[in-house]
Amino acid sequence: MGNTTQSQSDLPAKQEPQQKTQAGNYFVSNYPPYSFWKPDHVPAYHEALERPPAADTRMGLYFHIPFCRKRCHFCYFKVYTDKNAAAINGYLDAAIQELTLYASKPFVGGRKPNFIYFGGGTPSYLSVQQLTELTKRMKGLLPWDDAEEVAFECEPGTLTDQKLKAIRDMGVTRLSLGVEHFDDHILETNGRAHRSREIERAYGYARDLRFPQINIDLIAGMLEETQEKWDMAIERTLELAPDSVTIYQMEVPFNTTIYRQMKEQGQLSAPVADWETKRRWVREAFERFEQAGYVITSAYTAVKNPEQTRFVYRDRLWEGADLLSLGVASFGHIGGTHYQNNADFDPYLKSVSEGALPVYRAYTPTPRERLIREFILQLKLGQTRCGYFADKFGVDVNEAFAEPLSRLKEWGFLSHQGDLLVLNRDGLLQVDRLLHEFFLPEHVTQRMV
Ligand code: SF4
Repeated sequence: MGNTTQSQSDLPAKQEPQQKTQAGNYFVSNYPPYSFWKPDHVPAYHEALERPPAADTRMGLYFHIPFCRKRCHFCYFKVYTDKNAAAINGYLDAAIQELTLYASKPFVGGRKPNFIYFGGGTPSYLSVQQLTELTKRMKGLLPWDDAEEVAFECEPGTLTDQKLKAIRDMGVTRLSLGVEHFDDHILETNGRAHRSREIERAYGYARDLRFPQINIDLIAGMLEETQEKWDMAIERTLELAPDSVTIYQMEVPFNTTIYRQMKEQGQLSAPVADWETKRRWVREAFERFEQAGYVITSAYTAVKNPEQTRFVYRDRLWEGADLLSLGVASFGHIGGTHYQNNADFDPYLKSVSEGALPVYRAYTPTPRERLIREFILQLKLGQTRCGYFADKFGVDVNEAFAEPLSRLKEWGFLSHQGDLLVLNRDGLLQVDRLLHEFFLPEHVTQRMV
C-alpha cells in the first residue's frame, strides 16, 4: 500500500475546536474531497463504462430531483423553485435518456439495481402522474425486482394522501421525511416550506400505508433554536415513534442564504448555536432515544429495531458499491471512478439532448485513497472491523493508520475491542472533524471545528 504514514504529526495535539459556527462545510461525505475531482479525469470514467463490473460489486441507482417549493436558508444544494410542469417533464425525459445511455454499457453487466435512492431537492415535489410515469420508465430500462431498498426523500408539505399512496405503489421501502423541526416559528425562520400540521398529517397517513421504514430527519442548531424547543422536537419525534431518526448538526456552507447575510453584515460567525451546544443537543437526543429503546447506529442515526431496519444505500456506498447516478449535479461511482454530472440545468439538458453523458468532472482514487475513503466513512458508524480491511485491501489498518489512531486514542475518543475499533460517544459526536486526521497531506484543507 505504499506510504503507510499520515502526515498530520505536525498538527498540534488535540486541537481545540473553534466553538463558533463559521461558514464552510463540516460534513465529510466522500474522499478525496470533491474539490480534487477534475474534468481531465473524465476519460477514466468513460473507460470504466466499457469494462465489465468487478465480481460481487453491487450497483445502486440514484435519481436526483432538483426542485423545491422554496429555498431553505441553510440549503447549499443546487435547487430550482421556479420550474413549471413542462420544464420538469423535460428534465425527467432527459434523466430517462441518460439512464437509456447507461443501460447498454458493459459496466452494467446484466446487473439489476440492488438499491435505489430518490434524492434532491425534493423528490416528493413531483406530481402523482410524473412519479408513476417515471417509475414505469425506469423499471423498463433496469428492473427493480432485485432491489433490497427503494428510498425516497420527502418534504412533508408536498405529501397529499394520493401522492403518498403513489409513492408506496412505486415500491418505496424507506420513506424519509425532511421534518427538521416541529416548531412552526423555527421552520418559518429557517425558510422551510412546511409547518408542523403538515408533518403530523403526512406521518399519520404514511403509517397507515405501512411503509416498511419511516425515517425522520432533524437538524440540531437551526436559526433561533433554544433548549426548550429542541427538547420539544425530540419528545414529539419520540411520540411519533419512527423506525429511524437522523440528526444533523447545523452547518452553514458558503452558498447559503445565511452566509450571504453574514457577509452583508460583516459577521464572521453564523447566527446559530456553537458546536459545543449542537453536540450537547445531539448527545441529549441520543440519550433520550436510548432510554426509549432506540440504538445509536451512526454519528447521526437512532434506530428503533436495528435487526429489521437497515439503511442499504448508506452501507453499500460506504463499502464501495457502484452508483449509477442520474440528473443534474448528481454524484456517482462506476468501476473505481467517481464522477459528477453538470451542475447546471441547461448544460445538463444540452449534453443529454446531444446523446452525450453529462459528466463534467471525475476522480479515480488510488488504492491508498480507496482504503482511506472506506475507513473514514465506516468510522462514522462508531465502530469498524479491522478484519474487513485485511480481507478487502490486504492491509492492517493498525499499521496503515498507526499515527492518527494513536492520536485519537490519546485524545480519549477511540479504543480497541478485539478486532473492533470503537469511537466513544464524544468521538462519535465530532467524527467529521476527527476524520481529517486520516486524510493524505495533499487533501488537508481548512477544518471547520
Ligand atoms: S427542501 Fe432540502 S433541498 Fe430543498 S431547499 Fe430545503 S434543504 Fe434545500
